[in-house]
Parts: sequence; C-alpha cells; structure tokens
Amino acid sequence: MNNIENMQLYLIRLGEISLKGLNRRFFEKQMKANIKLKIHPYHSLIEREKGRIYLYVDSSCPEETVYNTLKTTFGIVGFSKAVVCEKNFDSVVDAAKSIIEKDPFSDGKGTFKVEARRADKSFEKNSYQIEAFLGGVVLDRFPEMKVDVHNPQKILYVEIRDSAYLYTTPVSGPSGLPVGTAGKGLLLLSGGIDSPVAGYRMASRGLRLDCLYFHAYPYTSEQALQKVKDLAMILARWNVGMTLFVVNFTQAELWIKDHSKEEEHTLMMRACMMKVANKVAQKRGCQVLVTGEALGQVASQTLEAMCFTNSMSEKPVLRPLVGMDKQEIIDTSRKIGTYETSILPFDDCCVIFSPKHPLVKPDTETETESFKEMNIEELLDKCVENIEEYQFSYRV
Ligand code: ATP
Ligand code: MG
Repeated sequence: MNNIENMQLYLIRLGEISLKGLNRRFFEKQMKANIKLKIHPYHSLIEREKGRIYLYVDSSCPEETVYNTLKTTFGIVGFSKAVVCEKNFDSVVDAAKSIIEKDPFSDGKGTFKVEARRADKSFEKNSYQIEAFLGGVVLDRFPEMKVDVHNPQKILYVEIRDSAYLYTTPVSGPSGLPVGTAGKGLLLLSGGIDSPVAGYRMASRGLRLDCLYFHAYPYTSEQALQKVKDLAMILARWNVGMTLFVVNFTQAELWIKDHSKEEEHTLMMRACMMKVANKVAQKRGCQVLVTGEALGQVASQTLEAMCFTNSMSEKPVLRPLVGMDKQEIIDTSRKIGTYETSILPFDDCCVIFSPKHPLVKPDTETETESFKEMNIEELLDKCVENIEEYQFSYRV
C-alpha cells in the first residue's frame, strides 16, 4: 500500500455495487470521488482489494467528520474504524486491547465473539487460538460480557494478511447507489415533510439533484424560505452539495386567482409549477423532475389530478413516494434529519391559495383548456428570468 503513515484506516463494505458486473468500477469510482470530496481538505487515500474498500484518512481529520461522511454517502452498507499492526501476536494483542476501549465494546456490556481469519498461514497462531486468546482478553477487561458465537451483539474481527487488521462490528451506512451515477433531476422542494424525503430517495438511487422552490412573498414569509434553505442544506450532505433555485411566484399566483375558477386554483398552480420546473430543468441539464406526491394524500394528488399535472410536463416526473403511506414518510424524514425543520409552522404558497372545495377528479382535457385560457405563459417566462440561486456545501 502507498504512503499510509499517520493515516487512520476505515474498512468500507459495499452492497448493491458489488453485484454490478462490468459496471462495478464506474460505481466505485463515483463513490470514491464523493468520499474524497466530503473529506477534503484532509488528505485521504482509497484502495480496493479483494472486494473491500480501504479508506485511509489523515490522522488530523476528526473522527466525527469521517463518520458523518460515511454515514451519508450512498453506496456504503457499513464501515468500521480499523487498527493495523505488525504481524506478530504481541502486537495483535495490544491492538485488541486498545480497540475494545472504543465503541461498541467500551460500555463493557452484552454478548460478543472474536472472529479471526488467517490468510497468512505462517502466522504463529491459528484462527482458533487467536479467537480463544483474545476472547479471554475481552473477558478480563469486561467481566460482565458474555461470549455468544451464534448471535453476538458485538464482534471483534482479526485478519492476518500483509499486516494484521483489527476492527469491530460495522456502523451502518445508507446503502443505495452513489450520487452522480444516475444522471440529474430537479427536485420540487417545498417546506413540507414529503419532498425532502422524495429527494433523499432519488439521491439514494444515484440521482444528483438540484432543487426548485416556489416562493410567494409576502403571502409566504421569509421564514418559509429559510425553512426550505435549511432543508436544502440537510439534503446537501446526501447529495454531495446542492443548488437551490428560488422562483418568485407571487405574480403568477395572483394571476391564477384572477383568471381561473376557484375550484381550479390548486390545479392551475400545479400546472404552472410544472411549466416553470420544465424550463429550469432544461436550462440546468436535469433529465427528470422529482416531487413528493403520494397517491391520494390530498386533493391535488388523486390519480386524475396527477394525470393532469403529468400532462403539463414534458420531462418525466418521478414520484418516489407515490405508494408510501404518511407514517412511512415521516419515519424516513426523522431518520434523515429533515422532520424537525419540515414541521415548523410556516405555510407555503399551496396552503395560502388553496380553494375551499378543490376539484378532486379533474378531467385533463377540460383543465388543459382552462390552463390555455389563463394565458399565463409570458408571466411564467418572467418568473424563470428572475430566478435566485443558492449554493449549499457538501461538508458534513
Ligand atoms: P410536501 O410535504 O412535500 O410539501 P404536500 O403533501 O404538502 O408535499 P403538495 O403541497 O400538494 O403536497 O405538493 C406536492 C409536491 O409538489 C411537493 O411534494 C413538492 O414536490 C411540490 N411542491 C409543492 N409546493 C411547492 C413549492 N412551494 N415549491 C416547490 N415545490 C412544491
Ligand atoms: Mg406542501
């Protein structure tokens, strides 16, 4: 291996990527680039050997930075901090003593086993002897712990190869496929619970995202915009950076209010959002739109309403939450850290302009006609011209 002095080693496990045949290198390359970018300016080195990824990070890099990076990098199933030492038994024992002082062993509780693999058969002890001796070391240090070889809560791994490697039960990564391997999408990001989760889901399949928010100031507050910026910033960790576009939608909203029937307001607004989103996507090289719609969740998300909004978009619209129920969406939102921000009580434009009795089963042809009659295309072009742009860092 290269110059790895003063570097800390982490072992990374891949899931779906390792099932890729000839394409595997492409996915691995993107994942490596994503990790390196997030860890920068700290020096890191990534090597691949026998189905494993070895990440060496300059020792001055805080452990927290590495953990936060690996926990938010799609493609990683799990990772463990590892200790590398010389290939003699005394060094292995010393390394084991130091590693069990750290998480997950350090609380001294629960069940464990030692799992040794000896690729180098010339090593002075065989696997069984290593396991038995180090099991004793753990029990001496933590007498409350118990050995369970079938279903242990914690595992101390020892591998004797070119050097000796010791590591413990892996911390979970987010799985999925590396961001940047599946093209680019434009996420319609509102301040609600659903759209950030939709973005997360698509990023987890490798789609790189830009975000678009429709702001209707002063009908929607500055705090509503701040909330969306905060959500974009959280998503930036998963997406390896993020650009948020903000469209001033006030004039369009007022136009819709004056030029369409009340029960059609929401549908017309959604149609306008699709038109604007298509223009932005085209400019930014986004191949698809992504929304947080779920079938039947509100009036504008019935099958008929979705068919109509769909017909207003030239680009395909991906709706990763379409078959999920609200509780599942909330659970994911908590997991990814957007929930607390999403539930802040600042309404977005849809709520403020929504009619008392919206059309629930619109007819696409009729609504397409209503949209044309509004004659709003020119105003929508202006919205796109005056777009604002914000950048959020990939730093974790
Ligand atoms: P969310 O929880 O994501 O706000 P929602 O349940 O409130 O969704 P709608 O208001 O009907 O549902 O919005 C459906 C989708 O349309 C959202 O998930 C989002 O993708 C998009 N959207 C709605 N409002 C906005 C907005 N102001 N800016 C950008 N996209 C929006
Ligand atoms: Mg909403």
